[in-house]
Parts: sequence; structure tokens; C-alpha cells
Amino acid sequence: MSTELESELTQQVDRRRNFAIISHPDAGKTTLTEKLLLYGGAIHEAGSVKARRAQRKATSDWMAMEQQRGISITSTVLQFEYQNSHINLLDTPGHQDFSEDTYRTLAAADNAVMLIDAAKGLEPQTRKLFEVCKMRGIPIFTFVNKLDRPGREPLELLDEIEQELGLMTYAVNWPIGMGDRFKGVFDRNGRQIHLFERSAHGSREALENVLELGDSRVEELIEEELYYQLKDELELIEGVGPELDLDLVHQGKMTPVFFGSAMTNFGVELFLKYFLEYALKPTARQSTLGEISPTYPDFSGFVFKLQANMDPKHRDRVAFIRVCTGKFEKDMTVNHARTGKNVRLSRPQKLFAQERESIEYAYAGDVIGLNNPGVFAIGDTIYTGKKLEYEGIPYFSPELFAVLRNPNPSKFKQFQKGVSELREEGAVQIMYSVDEAKRDPILAAVGQLQLEVVQFRLLQEYGIETRLEPLPYSVARWVEGGWEALEKVGRLFNTTTVKDSMGRPVLLFRNEWNCQQLQQDHSELKLNNIAPVVS
Ligand code: GDP
Repeated sequence: MSTELESELTQQVDRRRNFAIISHPDAGKTTLTEKLLLYGGAIHEAGSVKARRAQRKATSDWMAMEQQRGISITSTVLQFEYQNSHINLLDTPGHQDFSEDTYRTLAAADNAVMLIDAAKGLEPQTRKLFEVCKMRGIPIFTFVNKLDRPGREPLELLDEIEQELGLMTYAVNWPIGMGDRFKGVFDRNGRQIHLFERSAHGSREALENVLELGDSRVEELIEEELYYQLKDELELIEGVGPELDLDLVHQGKMTPVFFGSAMTNFGVELFLKYFLEYALKPTARQSTLGEISPTYPDFSGFVFKLQANMDPKHRDRVAFIRVCTGKFEKDMTVNHARTGKNVRLSRPQKLFAQERESIEYAYAGDVIGLNNPGVFAIGDTIYTGKKLEYEGIPYFSPELFAVLRNPNPSKFKQFQKGVSELREEGAVQIMYSVDEAKRDPILAAVGQLQLEVVQFRLLQEYGIETRLEPLPYSVARWVEGGWEALEKVGRLFNTTTVKDSMGRPVLLFRNEWNCQQLQQDHSELKLNNIAPVVS
């Protein structure tokens, strides 16, 4: 490799950080995102992400559906620069029904920020998304939000994270009071108190007042009781708590914890500063060529998400690609590993909320949006140079199942085409009965809204009116060893066998209990809640 390219790649990878926020709806993800962008100078007034959303014209019908319901279904990628770091924030849909999309986005993320409402602690959606991060071993940074409101004791929150998620915690800063008595946070590393000012509305970059711990004004500004509480708690966490260990953080075993209030823009800059220092840079990834470094000279990346019809006039689709190695250049021609075809990557896009801006270059850790002429499917690898493929993106266990009926036989072809395209795009998983006579597809989804979107889009885009017949299952398990393993165990009770779109057996259960029962009766059968990846 030319030394020029080598040093360019090293330098660019070094300054890249990539993360996704995982949280339960209402924890403050939109608010925190806005405040982070404020520091990046990407927007000048917080509130504009929301305002932009409100102003946005309905670019397609299903986005209209998104607007009618006031929820965010699709995710975008936000890029911004801060103090010479190049940050990619992979935004995930806020609505819990779309967690399947979020799972995939996490496959492209190097770090996750777990956002928690201080009053609520861990909530269901956060736990689920955490499981996905844990499976991938990605580093988790915790931001405990809404300290300006009464919440749970900080020590109790750390305990909950340790006990329930099995993560060691390291508080990077420590709150002084809470709710009406919230005075600020103590930065353990800088040994300084950052004072909270209630008057700050947080629409601009906060001007934080900082005091040394020994400063005489501390006593004036912080009530004695809170000051002694801080000292006691610090003594406790510094005495018995572990030291910050970045190796453990990078292995996803220890989470640095920050306290703050996104709405008032308090603690956000402190978070950003340490996050950039501690977060994992783009690292080597497993591929068919073995572990491959982000500074490998040839370009490669994989598709983690497809989004259709952002503009109905062009019926276009955007493929979101995570760059893994080398340098992406506009209009370059790459190889498509699955089909062996050459593809010219024209009209690359960088996505900022709904605005699309053309990009010229991208490096490992970046995400690019490409107009998809139909060749891309989720998990596909593209590359230049020597052939390589990344591990695909797994399908996660769906929880809702329904047979999709097409009452109009003359439209059978259209129906099949629509179902197959929506499946390729990853809008929904498709399964089939093992009974050849039952040809109607079974839609398998994580949330109800996903099913509704499929019906809506089949009608709008393919002109097909469909009927959904719910099935009484809530748990799906893939069988390790496939049909062969299944045949060995013989007849099974309280479960129904179907096949996924690749013809692999999947067992459906009415509830967890039935699934556990079967596991107990047939311990020789290995069941997975994630589909094995084929590449
Ligand atoms: P999302 O659903 O996670 O994107 O949450 P939003 O960012 O929309 O926030 C949900 C609600 O919590 C909104 O009413 C916010 O104004 C509010 N909120 C967010 N952060 C804070 C905070 O730090 N303090 C307080 N008091 N409210 C907050």
C-alpha cells in the first residue's frame, strides 16, 4: 500500500467514533440527540431536529402513516464533527415495534449509549436492546437522564445495572442532589464540580460553571447536607468500586456511567468529552479473509438496512452501508459478493435527518446511503480487491405471527413480488407452513406496527388488499442442525414447525413456558432465538 494512503487511513480511522443510542421510549433520546448535535455545530438551535421533523413534507405514504401517528419508524444516520473527531450517530426508531430495525442498526455500531430515565431505571425496551449489544460484545456507555427531576438514588441505579445486566459500573461523574435540589455533578477524573444552573434552557451550548473541590465557594453554593452526602458517596464508590478499565469497557463488561439532564443540556458536553476519549474506534472485523483491519487498503462494507420509497416519485430505495475498510469514493465500482456482479456506487448520500447531502469520501466507521437498484439485500458485502465477506446480520426472534391472505387470485404474481421485496428489505420476516398445500406466507414480526406497515405498503405500492389472520404464537426458535436434528427427536408436543424463507425449520410456541418445557424434555435439541447466519 502506498504510504500516503496508509497514513490517510490511519489518521481518518483514528478520529472516527460510531455509536447508537439504546433506550426505552420517552427516556429522552430525541432530546439527547439534539443536544449532541448542538455541540457538533450541526445545528445551531436545539429543537430544530424536531422542528425539521414537523416541517417535513410527506415524502411517501408510509411516512404519512408515520406522521399521522407521531412516531418515528425509520432510522437515519447523523454525522457531526466535534474537536477533530468525526462522529456517526446511528439513529434508531423510537417506536418499540420497530426494534428489529434497531437490532440491525446495532450490527453497524461500534458503541452503544444506554440512556436511562433516572426515575424509571431499566425499562423493557432498554433491556432487550442491551441483550443484542451484549451478544455482539459492544461497549456500553450509560447516560442517566432527567436529574433535574426527582429520581431514584444513584447508587441504587448502579446496583440495578450491575445486578440485572451483569455489567460492572464506573461512574465517571457523580450527581449532587436531584430534582429541585439538583446542584450539578462532580467530574471524578477532572476533580471538579460542574454547577447546574436552572435558568439554562439548554437551547444553546451550556456555559458550565466549574469549581475545584476545595474552592471556598463550594460551601456557599452547595448545602451542607448535599456536600457531605457527595463526600460519603464518593468515598464509597472510590473505596469499593472498581477502577476504570478501558479493556473491560471495550469488551462490553464495564459501563462508564454519566449523570445529567439532556433537556437542560447539563452534563452533555462532559459526556461527549469522555465518550470520545473512552469509546472504541472502528476495529477489525471478522470476514472470510479472517480478521480484517479498518486500515486495510481496499474498500469494503456491508448493508445493514434498506429503506424503500423515501421518495415515491422515483420508487427509490436506499441501502445503508457500514464502511469497514479502506476508502470509499463517489462513483467507484465495487464487487457485490453474493452475486459476483460489479456495481457502480453512484449518488452516495450522507443522511442528516431527512436531508440528503452528497458525499465524496468515507472511511471505516462511516455509514453511507446508496440508491439501491435492487441488488442489495441486508447483510450483503461489497468490496474491492480480494474477495471477502462479512458475517451476515442475524434475524431475531419474532413475537407476532399472522397468515397473510391474498383474497384476489388474479393478483397472485403481484402479491408474491410484493411479499418477497418487503422481505428482502427486511420489513418483516416471512415463514411458511410445512404443509405444501398451505402456500400463504406467515408474517413474523417483532411488533404489531410492522405488520400494519406491510399491509399498508402492499396496498399503496403493489395495489393489493390483504387480510391478516393472527396466529396464537409468541415465541420462535431456530433448530440447530436443521431438519436432520429435528427428525432425530421424533414427535414434538405443544409446538408447530414452520420453515423460514431459507427453508430452515423454526419451532413456534404459544408461550415461553411451552418452549422451556420442550427444552427440558429434549435437552439434546439445541434451540436458538436468533437465526443462524448464512453467508
Ligand atoms: P424519546 O422518546 O426517548 O426520544 O424522548 P424525548 O427526547 O422525546 O423526551 C421525552 C420527554 O422527556 C420530553 O417531554 C422531553 O422534554 C423530556 N425530557 C427529556 N430529557 C429530559 C431531562 O433531562 N429532564 C426533564 N425534566 N425532561 C426531559
